[in-house]
Amino acid sequence: MSLKSKVTGLILAGGRGTRMGRVDKGLQPFRGATLVAHVLDRLAPQVASVAINATRNLPQYQALAGASPVLPDYLDGFAGPLAGLQIGLQFCPTELLLTAPCDSPFFPLDLARRLHAAMTEQDADMAMAVTMERDEHGAPYRQPHPVFSLIKASTLPQLDAYLDTGARRMEGFFNTLKVAEVLFDDSAAFSNINTLEELQHHERNAPAQPPAALPAADAGAAPRDGDPPALPVAEAQRLIRERIVPVDATETLPLLAALDRVLAADIISPIDVPAHDNSAMDGYALRGADLPGEGTATFKTIGVAYAGHPFAQAPQANECVRIMTGASIPPGCDTVLPQELATAIDGDTVTIAAHAIRAGANLRRAGEDLQAGGVAIPAGKRLRPADMGLIASLGIGQVGVRRRLKVAFFSTGDELRSLGDKLDEGCVYDSNRYTLFGMLTRLGCDVIDMGVVKDDPQALEAALRGAARQADAIITSGGVSEGAADYTRDIMAVLGDVAFWKLAMRPGRPLAFGKIQAGQDSAWLFGLPGNPVAVMVSFYMFARPALLRMMGGESALQTVQARAAEAIRKRPGRTEYQRGILSTGSDGVPQVRLTGAQGSGILRSMSEANCIVVLHHDQANVAAGEMVELMLFDGLV
Ligand code: AMP
Ligand code: MG
Repeated sequence: MSLKSKVTGLILAGGRGTRMGRVDKGLQPFRGATLVAHVLDRLAPQVASVAINATRNLPQYQALAGASPVLPDYLDGFAGPLAGLQIGLQFCPTELLLTAPCDSPFFPLDLARRLHAAMTEQDADMAMAVTMERDEHGAPYRQPHPVFSLIKASTLPQLDAYLDTGARRMEGFFNTLKVAEVLFDDSAAFSNINTLEELQHHERNAPAQPPAALPAADAGAAPRDGDPPALPVAEAQRLIRERIVPVDATETLPLLAALDRVLAADIISPIDVPAHDNSAMDGYALRGADLPGEGTATFKTIGVAYAGHPFAQAPQANECVRIMTGASIPPGCDTVLPQELATAIDGDTVTIAAHAIRAGANLRRAGEDLQAGGVAIPAGKRLRPADMGLIASLGIGQVGVRRRLKVAFFSTGDELRSLGDKLDEGCVYDSNRYTLFGMLTRLGCDVIDMGVVKDDPQALEAALRGAARQADAIITSGGVSEGAADYTRDIMAVLGDVAFWKLAMRPGRPLAFGKIQAGQDSAWLFGLPGNPVAVMVSFYMFARPALLRMMGGESALQTVQARAAEAIRKRPGRTEYQRGILSTGSDGVPQVRLTGAQGSGILRSMSEANCIVVLHHDQANVAAGEMVELMLFDGLV
């Protein structure tokens, strides 16, 4: 296996660019392209594929990366190169990851090869480039370049543990590993460009290369820190999916208790289904060879086979057996004549015309549905009524299923009142807990309703810790948006490894996702927005697939197409989920109209709807009559 095929490249482009005036360094114009494009050019030939870690301007990086992924930090708030390394290792599909920073466009083209040689020779977890430099007195010293390293993907748990301590320094993490250092002679090859002056200096001192077919960023328009670009829905879903793993505990239940549960192991059929060759019709079983080639033939009935009461005797030439649907085929017979196809039936004789049926017709063969030893239902299937029947048809009365997920949920906000309370001035009744209860119960979770929690640090901390101790997952609503005048975000960030995303979607822009720790226990956190429609939409888009994955089940949602009965306004650059009513148009084609005002607080729009109209990220306004994609509520269990 070639070295190249074992290595994934990771460009670290997630820095703040502080010394460049907080511009996005990687996207700065450089020699006819961008800095990051030059890094990509040097890295790509050394590795199987390249990913880019970026925290801002994701669409520009994506345009550069083509089919390669752009990975935003999993940790919040420009946590530094280790955060980039973390997401890189999480993604890394190969054994090794080679990192290079977006602002060093001169590194050696044999970097991977030399680092790998040292790593193998020293049996190290990682190898790092080192150069010799001189201090201001001319004294030599070794300069490590931790951002140029080749690292085993298997070190991810160690990195997670290191980051869990709150530490963020690359050197600190590398101290926990076995490191091979590789001395490179050419220190200039590892130099990076930190300031706009340096950038201009390099531009002046080298001829512009022919511009690559890459979009150069408009430096003037680069967004500042604190205003990171919104994360596309699909990207957030992918980041969640990559972290979540199924809970492994299972239990064995009597079949009747297993409805809606997720199968822990394949159901293997212990028998052939059907178990015996049997008749598909009420009629006459006979030997196909006795059927007339022309004219008619008359058969004598020698007995009757009922379902459950076989007839054991083999008919002779021009004899037949009266047979009922489901009855075993008598020995020697291979054909059933449906009674309505007989030319005449007179007492115990049956007359059959040529070509009334073919030999071999109307038989269900043993094992035709399922053979003994075959997989009747694959693991991961959520058992539906048909599955219950199928399992019963195999004679299986006990099934192994995944244990139910325990999901704790609470609402946050001082303005929330519970049912039965007086509605004070400026307050609202807490509705989110009721939609969450419904959605979680439908998913088959064991729910732990923790009520309303005030915007109070101690109360929030106690609730989150308590939830992490009892549950596999925690769902909260409210308090995660940037402007939220409460402590929810701060407390979540302190108690765990939580990322706060601003999503390119509507409704439901803010989302917190991560892990909350309580001593030895931990639980996945989904911090949903506060607005009632946003809660439901973000639950369906992010929490639902993650919970199903934890349950070990499948989560693909069936979507259907319908004609828009009216024009729909849509801004490209974000995914919109509008509430719709699907009906059948006068020409029989399914059509959808929206349920009036679509504000993210208007729960009635959700209640009246029977579907969600999904308007994709790049989609623009929809004209009346165009087809749009729908998710049916009936499918959203
Ligand atoms: P927040 O994200 O906490 O600022 O909440 C956004 C909006 O959603 C505010 O108008 C809140 O009053 C409302 N909201 C938050 N939680 C709930 C809830 N549990 N039930 C109904 N409305 C809520
Ligand atoms: Mg709030």
